[in-house]
Amino acid sequence: MIQALGASQGIAIGKAFVLPHWEWELPDQKIDVADLAKEFDRLYEGIDRSKTEINQMRTELDEVVGSEEASIFDAHLAILEDPVFMNEIQGIIQRQYKVAEVAVKEAIDHFVTMFDLLDDEYMKERAIDIKDVGNRLLKHLLGVPDISLPEDTQPFVLVVRELSPSQLVHLKPELVLGIVTMVGSPTSHAAIMARAFGIPMVMGVEGKLEQPIGTGDLLIIDGVTGLLQVEPSSEMVSRYTEMRKRQNVAREQLLTIAEVPSVTQDGVSLTLAANISSLKELEAALSNGAEGVGLFRTEFLYMDRGRFPSEEEQFEVYRAVAQKLKGETVIIRTLDIGGDKQLDYYELPEEENPFLGFRAIRFSLERKDLFKTQLRAILRASEYGDVQIMYPLITSLDEVREANEVLAEAKRELSVEGKPYRLDTKAGIMIEVPAAVMIADLLAEEVSFFSIGTNDLIQFTLAVDRMNEKISHMYEPFHPTILRMIRTVTNAAKAQGIPVSICGELAGDVNALPIWLGLGIEELSLSAQAILPVKESMLRTKAADCRILLEELFRCKTAVEIRALTHQFHAEAALAPNHMHPLL
Ligand code: PEP
Ligand code: MG
Repeated sequence: MIQALGASQGIAIGKAFVLPHWEWELPDQKIDVADLAKEFDRLYEGIDRSKTEINQMRTELDEVVGSEEASIFDAHLAILEDPVFMNEIQGIIQRQYKVAEVAVKEAIDHFVTMFDLLDDEYMKERAIDIKDVGNRLLKHLLGVPDISLPEDTQPFVLVVRELSPSQLVHLKPELVLGIVTMVGSPTSHAAIMARAFGIPMVMGVEGKLEQPIGTGDLLIIDGVTGLLQVEPSSEMVSRYTEMRKRQNVAREQLLTIAEVPSVTQDGVSLTLAANISSLKELEAALSNGAEGVGLFRTEFLYMDRGRFPSEEEQFEVYRAVAQKLKGETVIIRTLDIGGDKQLDYYELPEEENPFLGFRAIRFSLERKDLFKTQLRAILRASEYGDVQIMYPLITSLDEVREANEVLAEAKRELSVEGKPYRLDTKAGIMIEVPAAVMIADLLAEEVSFFSIGTNDLIQFTLAVDRMNEKISHMYEPFHPTILRMIRTVTNAAKAQGIPVSICGELAGDVNALPIWLGLGIEELSLSAQAILPVKESMLRTKAADCRILLEELFRCKTAVEIRALTHQFHAEAALAPNHMHPLL
C-alpha cells in the first residue's frame, strides 16, 4: 500500500491507463554510406506507422474523452509532416551517419531545448508536442510494444506524471474514475479542478512505487487518505467497493435534494450559487443544484493558454455560461491574477510580498487595455442572461471609480460599434481586504453588490499567510474578528439596500451556516461539492434559532468558544427532521 497525498475525495477502483512517458536505450552505432537509403526507408516506415497510430488514437479518444482532447493529435500529425523537423532528422542521418533512432532523438532534444528557452508558453506547449510525437516515432523505430487506450473504452484511472489544468479541462469526468499523479500538490490548480469535477485524486506518488504502474494494472485510490494500492487483493477490492458504495449512497441521497428549494424550516431562503472557473465546472455545479454562479474565477481562462485570451474567446465562454444558466445570475469576476496565480506568458514583477503586491484590480487598472477587453467581452455576454461584473481586491473608492470609468468607456465603444449589451449591467465588488470592510458604508453607496471573499479576508485580517503551513493553525475563520468584519459589511450593505453574499471557502462549511442565517445573508457561493451538504443542513435548521445563536456567538471571546457553539448547533440540527425531504 502506498501513502501518497489525498487531493480530491472519493474512492476509485479501476484499471490504470498510463499516459506514456517514454525513456529508451538507443542503439550506439553508425550506419554505412551504402545503407543510407535503407535507413531512410526505416524512418519513413516509422513515420507511416506513427501516423496510423495517431489517427487510431484520435478516433478512440474522440469517443473516450471528446473531440477537443482528440484534436491534440492533429497537431501531432502536423509535426510529422513539418519540413523543418523532418529536415533536421534527415540531415543528421545523411551528414552524420547516425541511425534513425538517434537522429530522431537528437532532433527532439534540439527543438525541445530551443522552444523551452523561449519565454513563450505557446512554444513550450509545442515542445511537449514534439517530445510526444518524436517519442512515438522512436517507439516504432525501436519496435517496442504498443501503448493503447484501455480496451472497450471503459472508464479508467488515469496515471500521469503531472497534469495541467488545461489537460484536466479536456477530460470527460464520467470516464475518468480517478487520477494518480507522480508529482504535484493538492493546492495545484489541477487538484482544485479535480475536486470541482468530483474526481478522486492522489498525488505525489513518485519515489514510492516499487515498480512503475502499467496500463491495465488494477488500482484502488482513496482521495481522502491518499492511499494507492496497485493490484489489490480481492478482499481489499470488496472492502473498498463496499466503502465506495456507502459513499455513493450518501451522495445519491444528497442529489435527491438538488432541486429542492433552499429554505430553512421556518421558511427563510438562502440562495446557493456556485463558484466556478470554467464552463465545464458549471455542469458539475448545475447537477448539484447550483442556483446561478456567484463567483466565476476568470483566471483559468487566462492561464490555460499561451497568450491573453481575445475578446472573442472570452465572449464565447461568458455567453455560454450565461446561456446555460437560463436567466439565473452569473457574477463574472474580472482577472484576479498575481499572488499565487501567475501567467506563464506574462512576467509579473518579482515581489517580496506578492499577495500584497501587483495583483487583481491593481493589475487591471495598470493594464487598462486588457481590462477593457475583458469588460467588453462580459458586457457583450450580458445580452444572453443575467450577467454581473465583480472587481477583486478593492481597497478604496478610487479604485471602484477608476474601474467604472473603464467600464463606461467599454460601454461607449460598444454603443458606437453597434454591438448590443445590457445598459444596466451591474458592477459589484469583492470585500476581501480589511480596508474595504472599514469603508463598506462608503463603498455600498457606489456599487451594486458586495461579495465577501473570506479566503483573503481571513489572511489579511489575521495577518496569516494562507499558503504558509507553519502558521496554518492561526488561519482561523471562526476568530471573533472575522465575525465582526462580516457583520460590519452585512450591515453596511443592508443600510444601502444592496445584496451581500459570501464566496470564500467558509461558505461551504456547514458549521458556519447559522452565522449567515443569523446575519440575514441571502446568498452563498460555494464549490459544487459543498452545495448539497449545506442545503441538507439548512433544511433542518430554523433561521430564528440562528439569530439567537448569533447573539451568543457575539458574546464569545475566542474562536474556541465560537467553534464549540457552532459545532454543537450543527450536531443538534443534524438530528432534526428534514422538513422538505423526510427520507434524508
Ligand atoms: C476569496 O479570497 O475568498 C476568494 C473567493 O477569492 P480567491 O480564493 O480566488 O482569492
Ligand atoms: Mg481572493
